[in-house]
Amino acid sequence: MTDQKQEQLKRAEGFPFERVPAPLIAWYRANKRDLPWRVNPTPYRVWVSEIMLQQTRVEAAKEYYLRFLSALPTVFDLAACEEEKLLKLWEGLGYYSRVRNMQKAAKLVVENYGGEFPAEEKALKGLPGIGDYTVGAVLSIAFGLPYPAVDGNVLRVLSRVSENPSDISDTKYREFLREKLRAVYPQDRQGCSDFTQALMELGALICKPAVIECSVCPLKELCSARKNGTQKEYPVMPEKKGKREESLFVFVIETEKGIAIRKREAGVLKGMNEFPSAVVKEGDLPEETLKEWGVSAFNIVRQKKYTHIFTHIRWNMTCFFVRAEDAPFAAYSREEIEREVALPTAFKQCLGVMID
Ligand code: SF4
Repeated sequence: MTDQKQEQLKRAEGFPFERVPAPLIAWYRANKRDLPWRVNPTPYRVWVSEIMLQQTRVEAAKEYYLRFLSALPTVFDLAACEEEKLLKLWEGLGYYSRVRNMQKAAKLVVENYGGEFPAEEKALKGLPGIGDYTVGAVLSIAFGLPYPAVDGNVLRVLSRVSENPSDISDTKYREFLREKLRAVYPQDRQGCSDFTQALMELGALICKPAVIECSVCPLKELCSARKNGTQKEYPVMPEKKGKREESLFVFVIETEKGIAIRKREAGVLKGMNEFPSAVVKEGDLPEETLKEWGVSAFNIVRQKKYTHIFTHIRWNMTCFFVRAEDAPFAAYSREEIEREVALPTAFKQCLGVMID
């Protein structure tokens, strides 16, 4: 590390974090958005919303959240939910392992804690799919305890106010921020809940990634980046790694019984429903794959190309609409697929190949 960067780091680490809560909480109380998970913030409701918000924008999450809570209003309902119904409720949100983990956690909360979430860091961390961030969110927002929840929004705000040159993917930096915040949390229950949400809200509404509205920011008097005009230089992001690419054949096979669906046995989306697919390389022929599977008397009617981008991988999919006499897969009508089969977005778009 250069001397200059070391100097800067020292200055950033000496930032007066204790001056953040008062103006921020006052601003939050006057400006917070009405969001469904802010009504009656029980541990269960906060937990569900935080898992959804890890992967979905607030506006899109609202509808999913209300649907999920109306179908599964308590942790008991989630623990007892049949898997296919659960995956259908999650359809469109992606990252299906998260909802599977939620159900595992719900079962443990029911079995080990009588359906009451434990108000304790170590016990919460022992539940599947719950990391530092979610623990902080549940403990502070639902239980009113002084635990920070440091997500991307919070990292951005704090990196800017203190002009911290640390890479935000550095776990030591996150730990440093958690410690600093924890030391300045308000003493009262409502204050703890509001401080966590205020930090997130400022990052979502004012101190956004590209549009930064310093003139209306409650931290403008304190903020080092604003003082020095360096807002856009923070937060310091990790170097981007390129995405791996995979080519797939996806077959929407229609027989007299319906459209073929099977469960994925390996790779991305393992355990989820799919239209039968295969990872392919240049020169592979779709007819060969269909024959290998034992699809009989088939006719490839049409093909279309789609892409789907996951966090670390990009799928280049060639989807084939195939009419066949028989196929060795479960079959569903199109209405059944819409109504009851949880189908990841990557595959759902392949239904488009049926339309000319
Ligand atoms: S003053 Fe500007 S850069 Fe600083 S926290 Fe507020 S919005 Fe972000």
